Amino acid sequence: MPTPDTLPIPHPLPPALTHEHAWLVESRHPTSDGTVLYVRCAGCDTRRVDLLAHAQTPPSPVSRTIAVSPERWR
Ligand SMILES: [Zn+2]
Repeated sequence: MPTPDTLPIPHPLPPALTHEHAWLVESRHPTSDGTVLYVRCAGCDTRRVDLLAHAQTPPSPVSRTIAVSPERWR
């Protein structure tokens, strides 16, 4: 019988979640908050939206990562 103290069973993560994404900028659009970057991982096609607020700082993610084709995780 499960108890509230039971630890969750670990599941292996799909490859898309286990490597460091190599983000490539697909398009960029200037906005009043900075430049919005639409980026895609070269390794797994995961996509994300970043905001480049200042040219001297690295972009920060403004969306969660979105896997476009989960079948590629296999
Ligand atoms: Zn990736």
